Amino acid sequence: MRSRREFLSLSSRTAALCALGPLQLKEIGAGAFIGDKHIKIGRRSQTISYESPFTLGVASGDPTPDGMVLWTRLLTGIDATPEMTLPVRWEVADDDTFQNVVQTGETAALPQLAHSVHVEIEGLKSGRDYWYRFHAGDATSPTGRTRTAPPIQGDIDQFSFVFTSCQHYERGWYTGFRHMAEESIGLVVHLGDYIYEDGPGIRTDLVRLHDANETHSLEDYRARYTLYKSDPDLQTAHASFPWVFTPDDHEVDNDFADNHGEDGTTGKAFLRRRAAAFQALYEHLPLRSTSIPDGPYMKLYRRLRFGRMMQLHVLDTRQYRTPQPCGGRRAVPCPGQHAEGATILGEDQRSWLLNNLDRSSARYNIVANQVFMAKLLEGRKRLTLPMDKWDGYPADRQQILNLFGKQRPSNPIVITGDIHTNWVNDLKLDFDRPESVTVGTELVGTSISSSGDGQDMAPQGNNAMGHNPHIKFFNAQRGYVRCEMTAKRLRADYRVMPYVTKPNAPISTRASFIVEDGTPGAQEA
Ligand code: FE
Ligand code: CA
Repeated sequence: MRSRREFLSLSSRTAALCALGPLQLKEIGAGAFIGDKHIKIGRRSQTISYESPFTLGVASGDPTPDGMVLWTRLLTGIDATPEMTLPVRWEVADDDTFQNVVQTGETAALPQLAHSVHVEIEGLKSGRDYWYRFHAGDATSPTGRTRTAPPIQGDIDQFSFVFTSCQHYERGWYTGFRHMAEESIGLVVHLGDYIYEDGPGIRTDLVRLHDANETHSLEDYRARYTLYKSDPDLQTAHASFPWVFTPDDHEVDNDFADNHGEDGTTGKAFLRRRAAAFQALYEHLPLRSTSIPDGPYMKLYRRLRFGRMMQLHVLDTRQYRTPQPCGGRRAVPCPGQHAEGATILGEDQRSWLLNNLDRSSARYNIVANQVFMAKLLEGRKRLTLPMDKWDGYPADRQQILNLFGKQRPSNPIVITGDIHTNWVNDLKLDFDRPESVTVGTELVGTSISSSGDGQDMAPQGNNAMGHNPHIKFFNAQRGYVRCEMTAKRLRADYRVMPYVTKPNAPISTRASFIVEDGTPGAQEA
């Protein structure tokens, strides 16, 4: 492994237990991890040494103008007394050396939530950086940097964020996250596939292996998050910016739809699995208490505001959807796409989204979405559509496109993950008529590691380019998309790496696209 984590030898274990003091003595047993990790935070480089139990790092999320959620999890080791509630102190400071602590408090790491900690901070100043850390016993967590959102009515000159998705642990190193931590941005938006549920792979180009079979139980999902979150580059990206997270399918099961799993499991049996998956998801991400799961139900769609510059409309396209029509996957169009009641958002989320878009006063309306929204016709003799994407649910898509066209919310831009490749699409009022008006823009971002190295394919190498005139750009390398907004335009930089199956890949901007304020559709810069 690349991290310098190691199991303690017997003698050093005894020494460490003494150093941890009475509080931690019971909770850190034989086999507990003791780490010694260097976390580099953004451009301000610093070395932080820490000991168990903070080996999964820290995170922050869902920023508001006066706060955010702070997250960590105490990994208490295999001899932990699992029923113990552990007190955890937290600090928020103006500076990375904690000379000027502005808030501090104590919370409880509950065994029912795998000793995860979610602290919802309020009362900070808008639009500025803060630093935070946790203490348990004598142990101190690594330091995280976070940022409050701009004031609600504030006019800011500029706001930048990155969006990312799809981080299959076996398929590549998380070099992209290390580069992300160096970006000048105020936010990371993660569009799902944070974990993958499958067992160890058999390909010969895997860089590391899942350490257990396909996840089904709460213990399985917890162990999978623990494995993924042990990656130092992922930890660095979390510790550098607040994140807004929404899951896709692999946090539960590939291509799941409501209570339907991939292998045909449906109803209560699948909902038991979804409840386990959602609980572990909540335990490992900086989500607000409004997202605490109630069994298999978890409220993930939500809106965040970033001054008058941006509203972020965060979607959940898995939990409320009807099963994929026409047999799912890629299929020839069939009447099932237009079945009565077919939906990808569900009624409540759909009206919530349409209302919010209609009423929004933000300059940019960013829809944080999982699956490809534009039409994606492919094939040679037999033309097919991807039924797991919005193509499988044309009625919901048309309602959104109609709203874009008629109510004309300011600069609607859909950002998308899932498909492990980069695309730029015009969103057409009527995808079947190329001359139809462009009413919005879709920016599709590639994976951090899923699908392995990828390649910078020529457009003619992609069959979809010929069938879909609304597609402006395609690239199949790994990376993420950086977006910068000003009053005049949004600029999207497609950041790519030449490989991920070897460490230390450099990153560069493959292409940049501009959405001019008031003009739907993107133009290459
Ligand atoms: Fe994926
Ligand atoms: Ca997916």
